[in-house]
Amino acid sequence: MRDWVQSEPIVIVEGNAAVLRDIKGREYLDANSSIWTNLHGHNHPKINAALRAQLKKIAHSSALGLASEPAAHLAKRLVKIANPTAPELQAVRAAPRAKSKGSQLLNPKLQKVFFSDDGSTAMEVALKLAFEFSRRTGRSAKPKFVSLQGAYHGDTVGAVALGHIDLFHKVYGPLLFKTDSVGAPYCYRCPFNRAKPERADAREYRKCHWECVGELEQKFEAQKRRRNPYAAFMFEPLIQGAAGMIPQPAGWLHRVAEIARGHGALLIADEVMTGLGRAGWGEAGTTSTNPPLLACHHEGVQPDFIALAKGLTGGYLPMAATLTTRQVFDAFLGDYAEFKTFFHGHSYTGNQLGAAASLASLDILQSQASLRARQNLERFLQRELKGLWAHPHIGDIRQVGLIVGIELVRNWRTREPFDLREKAGIRVCEAMAKRGVLTRPIGNVIVLMPPYCTTTQQARAMLTTVSSAISEVFE
Ligand code: PMP
Repeated sequence: MRDWVQSEPIVIVEGNAAVLRDIKGREYLDANSSIWTNLHGHNHPKINAALRAQLKKIAHSSALGLASEPAAHLAKRLVKIANPTAPELQAVRAAPRAKSKGSQLLNPKLQKVFFSDDGSTAMEVALKLAFEFSRRTGRSAKPKFVSLQGAYHGDTVGAVALGHIDLFHKVYGPLLFKTDSVGAPYCYRCPFNRAKPERADAREYRKCHWECVGELEQKFEAQKRRRNPYAAFMFEPLIQGAAGMIPQPAGWLHRVAEIARGHGALLIADEVMTGLGRAGWGEAGTTSTNPPLLACHHEGVQPDFIALAKGLTGGYLPMAATLTTRQVFDAFLGDYAEFKTFFHGHSYTGNQLGAAASLASLDILQSQASLRARQNLERFLQRELKGLWAHPHIGDIRQVGLIVGIELVRNWRTREPFDLREKAGIRVCEAMAKRGVLTRPIGNVIVLMPPYCTTTQQARAMLTTVSSAISEVFE
């Protein structure tokens, strides 16, 4: 905080598409989509128009005991997106990443939507619903949750309890309830990966026998032996964000979801970062013209809960949604005197402006123009990121759709990391900002997550800026 207080902040006053402008008239590329929220660019005419139209009617009325048109329409749209049709899933199942032992996952229908304000509250809602659902249905008297090592699901106390990043969570330990963690498949630094470092994404050349999945299975078994099987397993599908952009090798999620389901755990997918097109085409690229909008569907996994936030409104307003099944909803139905209601409501739940922006954002997201733009951007990044391997201080470059993490290391041959106190990521991002590209590091990982409207020229500028900033800082 002292560093921040001592420096002069960049004061943003305007934005247009992928460009931000500060109070001094300087322009910057928004290379992390304003902390992963913006989908289609700033000042988008369609979202602006939808907001103006909604403003003529009403900005907000409570959703506690009342309904509103845009929120109801939005819920319907989200239910459609969360439940792909058989042919849509077929295209994904044909992709290699979804194949595992050949068994089929259950296919719960996500029919109910609970609105809240941000990613943390979307996860809190999933957590509370899963907790009480497990108790009421007799699945567990003392529901226990398990999430991934390095997990981050938000900054409110419940969401913090689900997280496993010491730097953020340790001091709050006395405030938290206990959750378990299982190993995340961090191939680049995996103790089971016997491959020597190569100049490629560690997932591609890893040498292992899925020991991480074996360990996870043992953890579920051990918990079962304690006569209290895990009530729910929460995960970010395909890639963990705040953990350091840790991508999962193809097939990992499908395998672990099968194990968790086999042990009766509910699946809670945190799609706060990965949802709504961020996961791109991936392996479905070869077989599908219309890839799933949710990352879990890339692995043929249909969870019992999905949390959405960040990009829901296209990055305009804080709004979140937790989707779940009718069975979960029904566990909270009862006569008034039974007090079975889900006692949880935020003042701005179902906000009309947020819902109007979200509906417009989904229209854009599902347009052919956006599909093409996303595909081009993803492929461009895939091709052009290869040029960065020339830097000896880059250890791993990992891409999932339109999400990129570039891990800086002291020595790529040994994978020796920089000490966090050296601020390697921060220094590179500062050098990038001076060159007109804004992003935030996660420790030693540089994040690129451009808005979908980013042009080839702008994407190229982001990559050359990463490259020259790394040269400036280390060479
Ligand atoms: N889940 C994930 C995966 C996230 O990346 C974040 C935010 N970085 C959150 C939850 C919390 O979202 P919010 O900041 O909107 O509360």
